[in-house]
Amino acid sequence: MPPIDSDAIIIGAGISGMYQLYRLRALGMQVQVLEAGTDVGGTWYWNRYPGARFDSESWSYGYSFSEELLQEWEWPEHFAAQPDTLRYLNYVAQKFDLKKHITFNARVTTAYFNDADNHWAVSVEGGAHYRAPLLITALGPLSAYTLPNIPGRDQFKGKAYHTARWPHDPVDMKGKRVGIIGTGATAIQTIQTIAKDVGHLTVFQRTPNWAAPLHNRKITPEEQAQIKASYPEIFARCRETSTCFIHQTDPRNALDVSPEEREAFWEKLYSEPGFGIWVGNFADVLTNPAANDLASAFMAKKIRQRVKDPAVAEKLIPKNHGFGTRRLPLESGYYEVYNQDNVRLIDINETPIECITPEGIKTSQEQFQFDILIYATGFDGVTGPYDRIDIRGAGGLSLKKEWVGTPKTFLGVMAEGFPNMLMILGPHTARGNIPRNIEEIVDWVTDMINHMRQHQYNRVEPRPDAVAAWGEHVEKAVENLLFSQVNSWQTGINRNVEGRDVRRTLGYYGGAVEYRRMAQEVAIKGYREFLWR
Ligand SMILES: Cc1cc2nc3c(=O)[nH]c(=O)nc-3n(C[C@H](O)[C@H](O)[C@H](O)COP(=O)(O)OP(=O)(O)OC[C@H]3O[C@@H](n4cnc5c(N)ncnc54)[C@H](O)[C@@H]3O)c2cc1C
Repeated sequence: MPPIDSDAIIIGAGISGMYQLYRLRALGMQVQVLEAGTDVGGTWYWNRYPGARFDSESWSYGYSFSEELLQEWEWPEHFAAQPDTLRYLNYVAQKFDLKKHITFNARVTTAYFNDADNHWAVSVEGGAHYRAPLLITALGPLSAYTLPNIPGRDQFKGKAYHTARWPHDPVDMKGKRVGIIGTGATAIQTIQTIAKDVGHLTVFQRTPNWAAPLHNRKITPEEQAQIKASYPEIFARCRETSTCFIHQTDPRNALDVSPEEREAFWEKLYSEPGFGIWVGNFADVLTNPAANDLASAFMAKKIRQRVKDPAVAEKLIPKNHGFGTRRLPLESGYYEVYNQDNVRLIDINETPIECITPEGIKTSQEQFQFDILIYATGFDGVTGPYDRIDIRGAGGLSLKKEWVGTPKTFLGVMAEGFPNMLMILGPHTARGNIPRNIEEIVDWVTDMINHMRQHQYNRVEPRPDAVAAWGEHVEKAVENLLFSQVNSWQTGINRNVEGRDVRRTLGYYGGAVEYRRMAQEVAIKGYREFLWR
């Protein structure tokens, strides 16, 4: 079968891929989107586990590009649940007639750049081929899920689910014996949701995480009207903060204020919705170990107050990392779950899991029997989805090999040696309230493609010196951040994936404001950091 030609191929139909499609189509380009799933939505298509919802304020998360869309759509809750977000993304796809450009059930396996004609040749599972001068990867930072590296996984006779591959039909857990592996953000949402329905729940914890209350609630009609009237201010606010959330870091240092003032501020943050306690905290909490210790002590006190059994509370208090140095899960009654008679916490550092058996899980001390096993074991973050495609750039260069050690990019939008490949939310881009970053990057990439078309260039790639300078800048930006000294998916560690045992910097942590400023400067000065042909 001859390849299907287009002006650009986009891989992924999540928030990034959908918006990039919308923007390129507006340039009059013929666009082919290839998506592994059977529908749009990305993260919100795949992660259907019980309790899945935003940690971003819903009204700060949606697309900002269409005033009509903003006025039409009504978020039901301040922190929307996954079904509502998926409904929203389908609404967007329908409103802007996007689906006709998307091929579903199309998992990309290879993408090869042809130096002779400056085109990308892309193949999907099952053998269909596509060809275009431009390749845009909108693979998502959290789309390559990982299973735990435990022997016997295939032997379990009950039902087993990874949270990122949850069935489309509800799973009946009433009265069932359920085991869950993992205690990250996803696990916390799942555990607090299913604990009331299951017969018995056993939680296998390796690393406890600091978690803070979400304080979600329904949006009242008055609030709805207020939100719709204030979108310009909401998005302006998100543009001012380094994480694109509505929460701004407090300029004071925790160590500069009195203990009473500190305590009062933390109590206030703990009682307020969303990520304020993480990204709107005192300026030194995520940079100064002494300030971080105080914040951790405050959070530990909260856990001790909420969990009745002191031994269980101690197990739930992280000892190997300080507050906020890993991605903070937000919870709704998570700690109280451990006061229920039908819930048990197993610390697998004390009693390691030896294997999965046909009946359940065997630890060094006990044999557990389950009807259902849940793997809440997360993702091979950021670079994982790239590694799962055989991407070859100029002269057959392998992206996977090139990125061993650390990714080499310019602004996180292009990789050295991979002409005409543009990445949305690739490594080394700013993070936080992600759709705000996505819109920025997609707009920037669209302008660059427009520049390319106007000048009739066939090929663009970043200059090696620009890549080297950006790499140095990215490393410098994390130097003072405590999180860079902690193992987590955000620092490239995943004990379930071979080779993911060395810390890497996977994002740009100099802040979204600075990222935007630098990216805009590159565009204004005529994209001098790139080689054009
Ligand atoms: C459970 C969960 C909760 C989250 N909550 C928040 C939150 O509250 N706030 C926030 O800002 N962010 C949150 N995130 C991050 C979230 O990923 C982003 O907000 C956003 O959805 C990213 O959009 P995306 O389009 O870039 O990637 P995705 O939504 O991941 O979409 C990528 C798409 O690419 C497809 N794809 C990947 N590889 C291939 C391939 N080889 N071939 C074909 N298709 C492929 C995938 O199937 C997927 O549909 C959360 C993530 C998870 C997992």
